[in-house]
Amino acid sequence: MSPRPKKNRVPIPAHVAAEVLFLADRTCCVCRDRNRPVQIHHIDDDPGNNLVQNLSVLCLECHRETQISGGFDRKLDAAQVTLYRDDWLRVVADARATSGSLRDEDRTVGVEVELATSLAEIYRDQEDWVGLALHYWSIGNDDLAARYTSKAIEAGVSVQTKVLLCTRIAGCANLVTTAEIEEALTDTSDWTSRARRLRDLGRTAEAVSEYISGIQRRLNDGNVFTAAYYLKELSESSLIAELFKIALAESVAEDDLWWQQRAMQELGWTEQRRNLLLQNAERIRAEGATHFLRELAWAESDEQAYVKARMDEARSRAALRVTRETTGKHD
Ligand SMILES: [Zn+2]
Repeated sequence: MSPRPKKNRVPIPAHVAAEVLFLADRTCCVCRDRNRPVQIHHIDDDPGNNLVQNLSVLCLECHRETQISGGFDRKLDAAQVTLYRDDWLRVVADARATSGSLRDEDRTVGVEVELATSLAEIYRDQEDWVGLALHYWSIGNDDLAARYTSKAIEAGVSVQTKVLLCTRIAGCANLVTTAEIEEALTDTSDWTSRARRLRDLGRTAEAVSEYISGIQRRLNDGNVFTAAYYLKELSESSLIAELFKIALAESVAEDDLWWQQRAMQELGWTEQRRNLLLQNAERIRAEGATHFLRELAWAESDEQAYVKARMDEARSRAALRVTRETTGKHD
């Protein structure tokens, strides 16, 4: 590589600027005040050196401190800016990783940031717009993911890929037609991608059904790893919670109080469940079912009533068992 001419201003390419701003979460790496307007600073003072490693996000005030020459003020020099920058990028990446937008928790955050940049460069060099769109989606950058989705579609992609991108990436749903979605779902011979598409489309019951039949097929074929992999994917997805939400909506429509509060219990919506039970206390007492009285006692934090309900329940269960066994002997 030939040496870069000094002080020759070359505008920072838009995708590089976007990357740098994203990695720093549009925040000055020195003062970290999120309310200050920011600009991109060339660490080595060479405006022609637009490598990501040479760029940092600074607010105008902190930027001014890099320009001080002489006097009593200590200049914010390149080495310091680099230290602040690297530390801040780690903080941002860490926050994103714990909020679930970065994958593979085993990798160190420093490697993750570097890797995100290098992977984007590889996809860009190869004009792999689908790879680039999915890459930005995986690191939580919806704007760039949407931009490269449009670019991929313009360049031409299969209907399966188009549906994959448009159902997964925020703001792209309008780029695909219902007919294309149906075509992709019937066309694919791969049940797992069908399960995932249905999941992304919010077709919960169909998606779960597709996962389960696929998992069963893999088990029957002796493909234990793949079965376990998709079983894990299913159990870690929001699909199970979505099923409980559907059940909740159905029990609301049927005015079935017991199953409403059960669905809330499974969803972990403790406060909503407590409120529902308290609001319906009279109705529950009037019906007098022991299992329902037990839940009401829990909501009212009434220990005595709770113990009584549990004992009543045990008595009626025991009575039921005795009846069954006695009638059994007479048969
Ligand atoms: Zn600042």
